Amino acid sequence: MIFNCTKKATYSFLYSKTPIEMVRKYKYLGLYISDTGSFKLAVDDLLSKAKKAYAALYQSLNVYNGAKPRVIIKAFDTMVIPIITYGSEVWSSYFYKYSLNYILNNVNNNQEKFHTRVCKNTLGMTRLTTNIGCRSELGRYPIAIKTICNTYSYYIRLQHMQTNTLLGQATVVQKALHLSKQRSIFGFIENICRETDLPLHKAEPGVDINKCTISNLTKKLKFGLMRKFTEIQNNSIKKSGKLELLANTKFNIKYEPYLDELNLDQRKAITQLRISAHKLPIEVGRTLKIPRHKRYCKRCSSSQVGDEFHTLMICPYTQFQTMRSLALDQITKHIPQFSKLPLKEKFMYIFACNDPLCIRIVAPFIARCINHEK
Ligand SMILES: [Zn+2]
Repeated sequence: MIFNCTKKATYSFLYSKTPIEMVRKYKYLGLYISDTGSFKLAVDDLLSKAKKAYAALYQSLNVYNGAKPRVIIKAFDTMVIPIITYGSEVWSSYFYKYSLNYILNNVNNNQEKFHTRVCKNTLGMTRLTTNIGCRSELGRYPIAIKTICNTYSYYIRLQHMQTNTLLGQATVVQKALHLSKQRSIFGFIENICRETDLPLHKAEPGVDINKCTISNLTKKLKFGLMRKFTEIQNNSIKKSGKLELLANTKFNIKYEPYLDELNLDQRKAITQLRISAHKLPIEVGRTLKIPRHKRYCKRCSSSQVGDEFHTLMICPYTQFQTMRSLALDQITKHIPQFSKLPLKEKFMYIFACNDPLCIRIVAPFIARCINHEK
């Protein structure tokens, strides 16, 4: 293989008078290297391997019927993510070509599309459900954060590498590339540190670095990246009209505890309610482009908009009313102050799903309301 971007090289090489085959790509230590120097092939190959690993996981864990989201996500993080991020220390500084904001914002690359699909499968949601809503319920951060952190800890190791080693010599070449303004791990990490306000790590002569210090420095970067992504995600949720209710109750990216508390049907109904993936008139009307004030409730003749608040707290439809009073009475027994809250605040308390006992009480009622409209 001859590294060249122009693809015009026509050299030939002989080994014991036998011509050596010229190739455009070569797999070395599990990573594809292309003659153009691009790592796209390597990243695509890792992703396709990760998809196969997930398919095996999907079958053995029975993802659609019964496996708990926490277990599925743990298995995914342990068995699939390491495949996607394999060798990222080497490829991420060449693969990510834009600013940190762009990298964290870009949930449409192939890796993140796959990640989003896994989130939807885990929650039992359809492909048409909002991407950001599903990822938010499971508290997922972009895979790029993991790959950037891997690259950062590798970068610190390189800084401390002795120049008489092979890797030390490669580091000298990388530094020279950086000085001549070419793409290198040094330039990549400098940009990341600048955008996360993290001081750039510099090796001090004669001072060795241990694994613990590298891990602490990497954690600092990881928290910086997570903070930055939380801002980005909160803004996207706020901007999305569909996720208005979620925007008012969820401010941190975290795995929602209700996912561990309920059976499959109830859990799915609550996810559908929270990320507006239900069939209440407010959402059906959105699809049919009916003006918001005309998306009337079909269960009563009140001519009110059939949104989440109306259905759960007001709708006089007999079945809903009976279940509602039962659920609200039970919550009041558990939290006496609950009865004194205004109706809207009661709704927001239930919707926020922060109290496991409360969510177990209202789950059957919510499941009934959501499934009634299917
Ligand atoms: Zn109604």
